[in-house]
Amino acid sequence: ELITFAENLYKLKIAVISRNPKLYSTSRLREEIENKGHEAIILDAVKCSMYIEKGTPDIIYNGKVIGPVDAIIPRIGSTITFYGTAIVRQFEMMKTFTTAESQAIIRSRDKLRSLQILSRTGVGIPKTVFANFPKDADVEQLISQVGGAPLVIKLLEGTQGVGVILADTTNSAKSIIEAFSGLQTNILIQEFIGESKGTDIRAFVINGKVVGAMERKGAEGEFRSNLHRGGQGNNIRLSKDEKAAAIKAAKVMGLKIAGVDMLRSNNGPLIIEVNSSPGLEGIETVTGVNIAGKIIEFIEANTGKAEQHIKDKIRV
Ligand code: ADP
Ligand code: MG
Repeated sequence: ELITFAENLYKLKIAVISRNPKLYSTSRLREEIENKGHEAIILDAVKCSMYIEKGTPDIIYNGKVIGPVDAIIPRIGSTITFYGTAIVRQFEMMKTFTTAESQAIIRSRDKLRSLQILSRTGVGIPKTVFANFPKDADVEQLISQVGGAPLVIKLLEGTQGVGVILADTTNSAKSIIEAFSGLQTNILIQEFIGESKGTDIRAFVINGKVVGAMERKGAEGEFRSNLHRGGQGNNIRLSKDEKAAAIKAAKVMGLKIAGVDMLRSNNGPLIIEVNSSPGLEGIETVTGVNIAGKIIEFIEANTGKAEQHIKDKIRV
């Protein structure tokens, strides 16, 4: 009797903020929440309404006030960053623990801002320039600034490899840059790291530790290694430098949980991206690590209830 009572008392209510309960990451998180004896709820951010009043913020879902939740795991897709992060902020106002803060999610979505933060804090990144719709006369200077062609051109808010273009020659680089300028579309121009040979590294960081890492190799003839573009994953061990770079990148971006992407260059690891809602399917499948379980353990350690839970069991 007593044991049941103590366990119920310290059971956590954990909300996964996700548009689709059937997605691998969402269903794995739910499974691990329940495996550890907690209660899982899945909330579609777009269907949440925010009640904003002095002192008593709340969230309304399916016609009901949600009430207290111990922790949220935001999995906010890039198409709903604005509304999704507003919901995360609302939970923050309700003093709910979140595995990703709203500001950190917003920051990580903007490639330019992310690279500025990374470079300012001394994390290695590929040479990158950004210009506001450059005029013809400036384009050549920008191209030479990143070491000339081949070079990579990126749309500022692309994901899954869409919006990342390899320009082989100076002439094609010029015409692509001019085309985007004409469309008033913001782009980054980046040094091409040829020695990484279409392969990048995804390091999964939780609370200052790399819990799993994989190498992703692009399909034949493809320089982009995204799994969504047909890339293949392999389990790898990171070097000391690679681990340190991944941990630092997550830290300066303000993310306790992050998927850090880097390229192996002749000058050591170069960070290209820090993801705030990293997918679990690829990394769990390739590494065999129970990443979802580690995320829930991180929540348990941070909601202050886990310790009580253990103490109570001992006392009983
Ligand atoms: P996305 O957000 O669309 O995933 P990334 O910046 O991660 O955009 O680029 C997609 C892929 O393209 C990377 O995983 C990597 O394989 C390749 N890539 C990106 N930048 C470079 C670069 N500067 N040099 C070489 N390959 C790159
Ligand atoms: Mg990427």
